[in-house]
Amino acid sequence: MKVYMDNNATTSLKKEVLEEMLPYYTEIYGNASSKFYEVGRAAEAAVLEIRERVAKQLGAKTNEIYFTASGCEADNWAIKGVAFANKNKGNHIITSKIEHHAVLSACEFLEKNGFEVTYLDVDKTGRVSPDDVEKAIRDNTILVSIMTANNEIGTIEPISEIAEVCKRHKVIFHTDSVQAIGHMPINVAELGVDMLSLSAHKFHGPKGVGVLYIRNGVRIDNLIHGGGQERGKRAATENVAGMAGLAKALELANTDLAEKTEKMKHLRDMLISGIQEKIPYCRLNGPADDTRLCNNVNFSFQYIEGESILMLLDMKGIAASSGSACASGSLDPSHVLLAIGLPHEIAHGSLRLSVGEDTTEEEVNYVLEVLPPIIERLRAMSPLYEEIMRKENK
Ligand SMILES: *Cc1c(COP(=O)(O)O)cnc(C)c1O
Repeated sequence: MKVYMDNNATTSLKKEVLEEMLPYYTEIYGNASSKFYEVGRAAEAAVLEIRERVAKQLGAKTNEIYFTASGCEADNWAIKGVAFANKNKGNHIITSKIEHHAVLSACEFLEKNGFEVTYLDVDKTGRVSPDDVEKAIRDNTILVSIMTANNEIGTIEPISEIAEVCKRHKVIFHTDSVQAIGHMPINVAELGVDMLSLSAHKFHGPKGVGVLYIRNGVRIDNLIHGGGQERGKRAATENVAGMAGLAKALELANTDLAEKTEKMKHLRDMLISGIQEKIPYCRLNGPADDTRLCNNVNFSFQYIEGESILMLLDMKGIAASSGSACASGSLDPSHVLLAIGLPHEIAHGSLRLSVGEDTTEEEVNYVLEVLPPIIERLRAMSPLYEEIMRKENK
């Protein structure tokens, strides 16, 4: 049996999405900036229509939607672009310790270039407190960036409350919604945010295309210089097929969203309670209430390494993750797990299982059958676990 449980890392491309993309590789291949012939004008018209569709899905205006080549680019642009464009007003930025590396590394880059960054602590479920945001705001604060939902432990942050705080203090507010799309309703007007990032491949769209929503009136510098695409704000020949795929995937993600969310929650909770019942000495990371992303499960298993669990799961056909895929290859414990207070040795032994729209109960049951003996086998090889068992006379 093959089971894909790493939907927080990426998702499969839907057939309908691929079909929507194909004509822009074959028939409507023109450069959307070439207006002197038909096939160019057709591409230009397509881009306009696609932008409208994306804006409608997000509750934004058409001229507030900017396409990028990834979620990472959208995050980088939001943070560096606002910092550089507003440095006459101040040089202070507020973010949290559990942001995606796209945000954290962009902030670290700015620190090397004369900006000051406050990295807010989170509580033990990963929640950022709106009060802490307010307390951290100073006269020279120009930007706050807090993610909508965390990619490792699934915490949904109080985004509209934080947006309120920022509005009151006239500070620009950006949120990384890459994990939220397809898992909860996202409307920029309802959230009250100034900027929002998303990435198509996290909701069954193609890889290599994202969006940055920029509310009209936000001052932001360009990151990619060159031609006048994206209304002069981001150079690069339009990736029309990618944009079309993103629009279609976003429409499909928002179709029957409540129903799909309920289904994913059910599978998520089957995994959580199944693991808690069958495996001793485990710890659920992230919230256990409705502030948890509907598709995310993250456990620490004491006395063993996350990587060895992944290897044995892979041998059983199960794709899962330990920490975030971007950081894999490094053996450092996850910055998110350290931020919620886990000691180093426990932050190493974590496993993330993320279900998707297509996950079945049968697949969940297979994981629940395969995982406990794997944990038991690895613990049997752990001298630490042996000692604990001896002490407890088990
Ligand atoms: C995946 C992810 C990103 C990066 O998106 P890419 O399109 O892969 O660059 C950014 N933020 C979060 C929260 C993510 O999960």
